[in-house]
Amino acid sequence: MPQSLENHVPAKDDQDDLVFLEEHPAAPATHAPREVWRVMIIDDDEDVHSTTTFALGNLDMQHRPLEFVHAYSAGQAREMLRHEEEIAVILLDVVMEQDDAGLHLVRYIRETLKLADVRIILRTGQPGYAPEIDAIRDYDINDYKTKSELTRIKLFTTVTAAIRSYEQIRKINDSRRGLDRIVHASTELMSLHGVQNFAAGVLTQIAHLLGQETNGVLCVQECPEDGCHELVVMAAAGEYVEHNNTQLTCSTEPRIVTAMEHTLAERRNHYEDDAVTLYFAGKASRAFVAFLHTTRTLTEIEQRLLEVFCSNVAVGLDNVELVSHLHNAAFYDSLSKLPNRTRLVEILDAALSGPGKDDATLSLVDLDHFAETNDALGHQFGDELLVAVAERLQSRLGQHLTVARLGGDIFCVLGDAAQVNPTTILGLFQVPFSIEGQDVQLSATLGLVRLAEHEGTGADALKDADIALKRAKSMQRAGHFYYSRSMGVEIRERVRMMHALRTAFGQNQLFVVYQPQIDLVTRRPVGAEALLRWQTADGKFVSPDKFIPIAEYSGLIIDMGEWVMRTACRELVGLRAAGHDNFTMSINVSQVQFRHPYFLEMLRRALADTGAPPEFVELEITESMAMEEPDLLIKMLAQIKQTGVSIAIDDFGTGFSSLSYLQRLQIDRLKIDRAFVTEITGSARGSSIAEMVIQLGRNLGLAVIAEGVEDERQAQILQSLGCPLAQGFLFARPMTADALNGWLSNDALAGVA
Ligand code: C2E
Ligand code: CA
Ligand code: CA
Repeated sequence: MPQSLENHVPAKDDQDDLVFLEEHPAAPATHAPREVWRVMIIDDDEDVHSTTTFALGNLDMQHRPLEFVHAYSAGQAREMLRHEEEIAVILLDVVMEQDDAGLHLVRYIRETLKLADVRIILRTGQPGYAPEIDAIRDYDINDYKTKSELTRIKLFTTVTAAIRSYEQIRKINDSRRGLDRIVHASTELMSLHGVQNFAAGVLTQIAHLLGQETNGVLCVQECPEDGCHELVVMAAAGEYVEHNNTQLTCSTEPRIVTAMEHTLAERRNHYEDDAVTLYFAGKASRAFVAFLHTTRTLTEIEQRLLEVFCSNVAVGLDNVELVSHLHNAAFYDSLSKLPNRTRLVEILDAALSGPGKDDATLSLVDLDHFAETNDALGHQFGDELLVAVAERLQSRLGQHLTVARLGGDIFCVLGDAAQVNPTTILGLFQVPFSIEGQDVQLSATLGLVRLAEHEGTGADALKDADIALKRAKSMQRAGHFYYSRSMGVEIRERVRMMHALRTAFGQNQLFVVYQPQIDLVTRRPVGAEALLRWQTADGKFVSPDKFIPIAEYSGLIIDMGEWVMRTACRELVGLRAAGHDNFTMSINVSQVQFRHPYFLEMLRRALADTGAPPEFVELEITESMAMEEPDLLIKMLAQIKQTGVSIAIDDFGTGFSSLSYLQRLQIDRLKIDRAFVTEITGSARGSSIAEMVIQLGRNLGLAVIAEGVEDERQAQILQSLGCPLAQGFLFARPMTADALNGWLSNDALAGVA
């Protein structure tokens, strides 16, 4: 700051005007030409101010007089220029506070204030203070004159030339800035969703371009070719706000309708003193037209800019319809017209942060056996059924409720617990649906989440509902299940275990134990079942019943199963080398492994690489697995049998395999589940299922083995029923390879003895 600003401020009348001008809000960026040319005189010599105003006082260019702005020091000028608008010319003294104060001020004007348009005429009393020619060029100084040179006439012509040059620069810059603004406006508009928003945005942007208040309407005219002249208001602002979404008529807005029809007929913009009517060429079937009030006549530049803007916007209006179409496709299900998953997640997110959260419940509605209905009655019928369900859910559950379709036969309802509850929702399915004159009875299963108890995002809530739904389904069609936090804990625990298992497997913390299988008559070992073990770092064992399902679920079972297969095969080869050569190794194979495309390949390689004799290798598959996809299984088993290994059906008796089906499977052995072995001593009726399995085996020519034999009585009964083989704690617990070697040798000795 210059040290004595006030000292240089004389008590001049026009000084008040300057202060007043400073308080004006910034004028709109695109200006109509002002009615005056503003010339700023910066000089610390008061006389210079008065002589200059006197000399130029009656200069009038294009009917615009000059208006003077005065500053009496470089410091004061700095302050003023920060706020001054549209100074056309500055007459600047070089020597003021310092010898080169004027030159510093020029740099400040150009570089700091970035005022590029204003023309600058430097004046100095002493010829010796002429600025370098470089400075004149670099700072865009128009003219340099010594004060003695500036005679009245000279001053007059110099200022006139400067104003002319200023005017030209302004024109160029205005159109450049206008174009910038059009580009900016177009980008802004593109971010608006929906035609209505876009239209409103167009009105705002036009007003902004012209530096005006938004006051007008934007209409669409459908099929202008056909001569139907309906003008439907898509956006309205200012005094026309109430016209939104209505039709403009000659009786309500005669002036606008006339102007619009005129514009539409001529297909070009129409300019009046106080209004513009703009034409946006739409697609062939319709056109857009806007009417806006202006507070003044638009300049030629402004008119040209509006033309560019209109053609830009026309493309945008067409696009935005396409975009809203895409928007619908992205957020709504095309069949039922209900919100889809993406949209539902948004709604859920809003609900979770909204006030109604505590009363709200989310429910997945899964139609039971829909796939079968669809297959049996056709997809067209299935689609109609889904639409009927959508309609019933929507119409019967009340207004303040969200019904969505998550794809397939899964719907979702979100709303108050009073409506979203099992009784109400399942109640809707008691009345059959009538499709194509047919009554279809549907039932559904629900997975519910109370939002009050939920702490995650909308997507999380949906996941929880899915977990609850799965649980409801696994509970033999219980109809519904509410998600509870403990389920989440359970799942997190499972995820944790999955990571731990992966690590353990990678670090060789898994090992295989072997449980001997014996001949019930001779009580001699005939083989062993390989069982996987996982001992964690803290010494605890995790039960395979726990980790095998996780390994299956995560796909880890593929590698793990292969490893068990190779380990067990190697053990078999080792045992044979030790002289136990009439010995069969049973290996459990999970369904996931079995379905893997390279299973057969893996099996062949394991046999080949380890040199295990296939006739002494047995694969155990579960009965539940044997029941799925019979044709595939029959084919698979045939191929497996070609490698020479045999097949046992594990846990036999727990499923419901039909006899005829069993006959078609190339299996060798049935393994009676432990539950039926336990049962033979427990129940009064005794051995029914075990007995049945033994008979079945005999009839089909299959070997039978009983597992889980824990006491001598069970062994006796099984033997008397004709079961030849057994496995269980009575004979031996699963043991490590080393222990098995020792056990077999001792047992062999015992057998000899
Ligand atoms: P499983 O195939 O039915 O295996 C027999 C289970 O019964 C084994 O449990 C075994 O230790 C146990 N067991 C044997 N004799 C008795 C007895 O007298 N009394 C009692 N209470 N239990 C007895 P384990 O080792 O805990 O294995 C559980 C299940 O995990 C197995 O059932 C099998 O389905 C699965 N599994 C174990 N190892 C593997 C493997 O390497 N691969 C695959 N896919 N599954 C495996
Ligand atoms: Ca088994
Ligand atoms: Ca079993």
